[in-house]
Amino acid sequence: MNVTVLSGGVGGARFLRGLLGVVDAADVTIVGNVADDLQVLGLHVSPDLDSILYTLTGRSDDERGWGRADESWRALETVGELGGDDWFRLGDRDLGLHLVRTELLRAGVPLHEATLRLARALGLDARLLPATDDPVRTFLETPAGTFPFQTWFVARGHRDEVDAVHYAGAPDAAPAPGVLEAIAAAAVILVAPSNPYVSIQPILAVPGIRDALEHRAVPCVAVSPLVGGRAVKGPADRMLRRLAGGTTPAHVASCYEGIVDALVFDRADASAELPRGVRPVVTETLMTDVGAARRLAAATLDAAGAPA
Ligand code: GDP
Ligand code: CA
Repeated sequence: MNVTVLSGGVGGARFLRGLLGVVDAADVTIVGNVADDLQVLGLHVSPDLDSILYTLTGRSDDERGWGRADESWRALETVGELGGDDWFRLGDRDLGLHLVRTELLRAGVPLHEATLRLARALGLDARLLPATDDPVRTFLETPAGTFPFQTWFVARGHRDEVDAVHYAGAPDAAPAPGVLEAIAAAAVILVAPSNPYVSIQPILAVPGIRDALEHRAVPCVAVSPLVGGRAVKGPADRMLRRLAGGTTPAHVASCYEGIVDALVFDRADASAELPRGVRPVVTETLMTDVGAARRLAAATLDAAGAPA
């Protein structure tokens, strides 16, 4: 049974780790967000793809919540000593991956192919595709000005309220080879519990992807990233409050109108009426460990009428 999943970084990766516990990895295609990508110290970093790569191959630091386990920071310390840009935290092991990816991209290898090679080398059995090979970049409009995603998120600690989100480059981008095919070949499409505005919408902004989901012939189910109206981590709740007018399941569902048939959300969230065409599915959604993530993935597949 082919399962295609739209995913951001950490929240998405945790869900995917559960999903791979209940379906065959060979049947899973992940369409990852690349609108957080950035150049740091001349290197191409794809934070969301890397969170997925590290988490699904047992290399993530789950305590820190991002990056690799058993990491060290000597290269970045040296960068700081030398007066270089050290605001974006890159560990030594992580840097090794960015060196290889950047070298491939410079040699003209497209991002999806570079990602495939990294995934193969790391032993990932599921197929990981960037939403696009083209540069789509998220910009946040805030009262303090308009910032590129990582400047707002990391350098400014996502403290600025967001008035609007833009996906620069999206109109000229094309889905990476395999993305539309994976959506067309899916028996089930899932939207991971990722940030709707900065992880999922930038995927949908790539021309052709939203359209393919709107015209899907199979069920599509999203999982809410909010538990009890609050983000488990990060700014999703504040963004929803300001941009969608609230943090109930109905507000989350409003981000996915026309593309999902059901929204899975937590028992802690009052089951308000959802937008037309979106069925509510209530379960435990806090992924405290791999077992909980696996149960959430199973419940999500079940909601799609495709029990694991
Ligand atoms: P990022 O790209 O690394 O920011 O990660 P994502 O966009 O994929 O995921 C971020 C979202 O994951 C946040 O809004 C969190 O609330 C959500 N999240 C993290 N852990 C959990 C969890 O255990 N359950 C649910 N439902 N959401 C979670
Ligand atoms: Ca991200």
